[in-house]
Amino acid sequence: MTRNNLTFVALLAAVVLTGCSTVPITGRSQLLLISSQQEVALGMTEFEKIKKQSRISHDPTWAPMLQRIGSRISAIAPLPNAQWEFVLLDDPKTVNAFCLPGGKVSVYTGILGIAKDEGGLATIVGHEIAHAVARHGSERMSHGILVQAGGVVLDTAMQSRTEANRQAFMTAYGLASQVGFLLPYSRKQEYEADHLGVIYMARAGYDPRAAVELWQRFAAYSKQHPNNTPSFLRTHPVDEARIAQIQKLMPAALKEYNNPPGATAPASAPARR
Ligand SMILES: [Zn+2]
Repeated sequence: MTRNNLTFVALLAAVVLTGCSTVPITGRSQLLLISSQQEVALGMTEFEKIKKQSRISHDPTWAPMLQRIGSRISAIAPLPNAQWEFVLLDDPKTVNAFCLPGGKVSVYTGILGIAKDEGGLATIVGHEIAHAVARHGSERMSHGILVQAGGVVLDTAMQSRTEANRQAFMTAYGLASQVGFLLPYSRKQEYEADHLGVIYMARAGYDPRAAVELWQRFAAYSKQHPNNTPSFLRTHPVDEARIAQIQKLMPAALKEYNNPPGATAPASAPARR
């Protein structure tokens, strides 16, 4: 490796070390190479585009319900520089909801049939808010940056070999970094968003047992529509493991629900898992 490469690797290591952050509640360390100001700006730009391209729903029941849920859960969600905004998009065929970095949440009317009630919608919104709080979008982008930067280092290192060898190596490296690094993380992030989401909904005063029921409804929907997987389920695969994890979180979540912040619980109560 040449001196230039070594300098680059050292620089990369420094970036990685300074870019480490911790997810609330789970305490997982994560790599973030994007500042919260940068992600807020990015989310705002994308959100404006989405709102311009979509029809906003003013449904008299669901639109105010979404605002109520959004303001209750975001009030207890710790995200510095957040610009929370919740919008109901009028599209009955799209079964989806997502959150852009910085706190811009979109819910499509197509998901409301499965949400069914306020507890169900609070589960979806809590999960999306959790993705924003855990800064999962920025984390994925940071991994992309790192993989690209790593690729540059290897690319330079491989220059002395034949072109065919170099190409084969780069292809393998690209596949490995995609399969071994990016994809499993996304599943981990999904579990983490479920975890933070049920705790946050409970802290905001929503019964967390609604989360188990919502995911069971998703599982039933998915069985009934085997050839027409809705977009939300393509990014949020629902299986027994997912529901089991949420069930495992119930004691902790119910404790939050029964002792909301500001209640007169003794401050010295021992922490429980
Ligand atoms: Zn998710």
